[in-house]
Amino acid sequence: MTAIENFTLAALLDALKTKKISALEATDAYLERVDRSGALNAFVTPTAEHAREMAKASDARIATGNAGPLEGAPLGIKDLFCTEKVSSTAGSRILQGFQPPYESTVTANLWRDGAVMLGKLNMDEFAMGSSNETSFFGAVVNPWRRNGDDAPLTPGGSSGGSAAAMAARLCAATTGTDTGGSIRQPASVTGTVGLKPTYGRCSRWGIVAFASSLDQAGPITQDVRDAAIMLRSMAGHDPKDSTSIDTPVPDYEAVLGQSVKGLRIGIPKEYRLDGMPEEIEKLWSKGADWLRDAGCEIVDISLPMTKYALPVYYIVAPAEASSNLARYDGVKYGHRADEFSDIVSMYQNSRAEGFGEEVKRRVLIGTYVLSAGYYDAYYLRAQKVRKKIFDEFNDAFNSVDLILTPSTPSAAFGLGEKTADPVQMYLNDVFTVTGNLAGLPGGSVPAGLDGQGLPLGLQLLARPFDEETLLKGMFALEQSAGFTTRPTDWWAV
Ligand code: GLN
Repeated sequence: MTAIENFTLAALLDALKTKKISALEATDAYLERVDRSGALNAFVTPTAEHAREMAKASDARIATGNAGPLEGAPLGIKDLFCTEKVSSTAGSRILQGFQPPYESTVTANLWRDGAVMLGKLNMDEFAMGSSNETSFFGAVVNPWRRNGDDAPLTPGGSSGGSAAAMAARLCAATTGTDTGGSIRQPASVTGTVGLKPTYGRCSRWGIVAFASSLDQAGPITQDVRDAAIMLRSMAGHDPKDSTSIDTPVPDYEAVLGQSVKGLRIGIPKEYRLDGMPEEIEKLWSKGADWLRDAGCEIVDISLPMTKYALPVYYIVAPAEASSNLARYDGVKYGHRADEFSDIVSMYQNSRAEGFGEEVKRRVLIGTYVLSAGYYDAYYLRAQKVRKKIFDEFNDAFNSVDLILTPSTPSAAFGLGEKTADPVQMYLNDVFTVTGNLAGLPGGSVPAGLDGQGLPLGLQLLARPFDEETLLKGMFALEQSAGFTTRPTDWWAV
């Protein structure tokens, strides 16, 4: 049998369907890798027993010809998704021990289609971060290292566990969520594919809320085909999420390999940042050349509102977070402080103990920008600028079909390198937050290595609900980049 880590999700599904491998064998092979991967800290809750039961049920369905589209595929799930009776912590102490009595819609869709859950993946606390260092369960380590240097690097965040698990081939595919870049940025710095769908494409029901007008679930996978396969199962209308859109889910895989000839690709000049490493600039031009060679037309465009995207995001996201996180008070579920003298001190002590520093910073910022006297100056103004960012993209998409940018302003950085300065950390999202503010679908594709041997990604953005053109473009980039380098299994014990 081919080693499990050499299967893509698509290849594994084929092998399962044709009974070359059983779901239980595939699951056991992944569980064995997960078992040896403690050094990466990618899993917070492996669910081996649960996985083996699900795999056996998959084998039974395969035997009777009732296999679903993801039958037997062993997946890792970001710990932001509520999974019934399985610990779901959002990377926070405040939710330690929380076992939801219900299943998120996205994960329910995956199980409906036959997938197997290997376990829950580490993440930044409440998805706030770009390095996975804000997790209560400790940082995740990127399986990639700089050439000749063993210093541990971050896998990005907040879906750091998902990206590291994918890069180390601990699962056939993983789920992530993206509020400001948390799928695309970790994918970019781990040499994996990350896809953030249009806001409203996947249900948010049962996903622990961070910033409700920005949060969106999506896959992190080995390649673009796998992302298309995952998205088809994850997406869909859900009456339980009034922001999920009732529009049919296409067969995303069907568009892969279709010609991109004639597509117009916008290159926004505002994404050319001062001080950006030359390698990233070069890779970006290379990406444009690849698409030109494939028959696309490359168009220079201007998105002048881009410079306001980060400041707007860091008002809107904390504002919504401060409101969403008000529910963690130690009363109904989650952490409750042992020491308190009355109900108010119970709230205070529970929240003080349960939340980490970054979460507290966001709650403070959010409460401030929403408070009387500052609401108009910050929150309301940010909302107006957000609308302008949206309008500007809308205009741009009158003349282009896709927009090509780098995914991140740098390759993976060292653990601890940016923790002292929150603003440095926030700058990681400079190319990704725009897509969230405008609700656009976007994806990151591994496109090359930097001088230190670390992966770099390119991002494509598309019109709302045009994931098909997005995936077509991502596939074309992937074909041209031919990125096949993988990190070694140095972490395996
Ligand atoms: N890094 C960004 C933040 O900390 C984005 C996080 C995310 O997309 N969940 O807010």
